[in-house]
Amino acid sequence: MGKILIVEDEKSIAELEKDYLEINGYEVDIESDGKRGLFKAKNDDYDLIILDLMLPNVDGFEICKEIRKGKEIPIIMVSAKKEDIDKIRGLGLGADDYVTKPFSPGELVARVKAHLDRYEKLTGNKKGTKDEIKIRGLSIDKASRRVMVDDKEVIFTTKEFDLLLFLATNPNRVFSKEELFDKIWSADAIGDLSTVTVHIRKIREKIEIDPSNPQYLETIWGVGYRFDV
Ligand code: CA
Repeated sequence: MGKILIVEDEKSIAELEKDYLEINGYEVDIESDGKRGLFKAKNDDYDLIILDLMLPNVDGFEICKEIRKGKEIPIIMVSAKKEDIDKIRGLGLGADDYVTKPFSPGELVARVKAHLDRYEKLTGNKKGTKDEIKIRGLSIDKASRRVMVDDKEVIFTTKEFDLLLFLATNPNRVFSKEELFDKIWSADAIGDLSTVTVHIRKIREKIEIDPSNPQYLETIWGVGYRFDV
């Protein structure tokens, strides 16, 4: 599984790509405008981008360059002209693959799969691709809600597990106490922001070798918490 964004202004091509990818189990969004495509690519949580070169408002060159400033996700560039592909390669924009139109949808799917597999191996944990998140000695099984630390099971309360899972599925991002409280506790309408602090401390005691010097759950002073991968 994986979530894919297609930035393509030719509707028939975009729909064809989407159909083939969906048949193969991927979740797919289409964006036909370059500017909106770039916004989505940067702000939404995609696992791979299929990017056409010639687009309204912002072209594929620029989009690729901008995505690379913040993300390492695979980018497959699509172009009608072979010369353009050579040009993109020459520019070293950081695209992972290049496809010339017309291409067979089956070939595109094969490339998507290959890049997602490679990326998954590279990062070690991909949100939404597996039931298990593994980061160094920590493994979190989403389906069975079990947590293992160095191959030993550690028992978590429901909220501790929810909080750990939320942070681990959004690694390297800082969340304020308010945000975490909203995410995990808002439906219960009990507790306050100190609840977050208490739970963070308990999680650290369970997963960190040295809770006062955490390697997973870092405090960002004055801002909040971040799960480090
Ligand atoms: Ca185009």
